[in-house]
Amino acid sequence: MNPKDPKEKEEFSRLIKKAGAKVAKTVTAEIIDAYCDYLKDYPLDLIERAINQAYRDRDQDDIWLKTQIVTSLEIEQAAKAIIEDEGRMEHAKCSKCNGMAWIVAERKDGSIVAHPCECLYNRAVDALQKKSRTRKDRDNDRYMKVIARSYEAYQKR
Ligand SMILES: [Zn+2]
Repeated sequence: MNPKDPKEKEEFSRLIKKAGAKVAKTVTAEIIDAYCDYLKDYPLDLIERAINQAYRDRDQDDIWLKTQIVTSLEIEQAAKAIIEDEGRMEHAKCSKCNGMAWIVAERKDGSIVAHPCECLYNRAVDALQKKSRTRKDRDNDRYMKVIARSYEAYQKR
């Protein structure tokens, strides 16, 4: 999300106020700013899903926890888990690699080589083109570049 965009900031405030309302807590502008500072690398729709997921992930028998608003850290952890789950689901749908993301092939000399599947290559290209980037994406860039190069080299061979 872009905190400098008034519309996005307002939508973000609404989400945090709603998260507070769930546990009968009023959130101040300072609290919203602190959440915003922590979560600004994530898109709004993901933050909304992550808030709900973070509440579900909690120990439901903990009565004290039921009175507390989800922290920015809990929301971030839920967001990361959602991103990872969806990545796995995308591979799982692929029939070329059966969800393995890598394909093992035999070279002419009989040796074995593993190359990235098209689905992994497409994800690498998407990741490298994405505009709103999380810290995690940036950490991942080096790996994604290796996958893209490896795939292209295999196709040219
Ligand atoms: Zn695949």
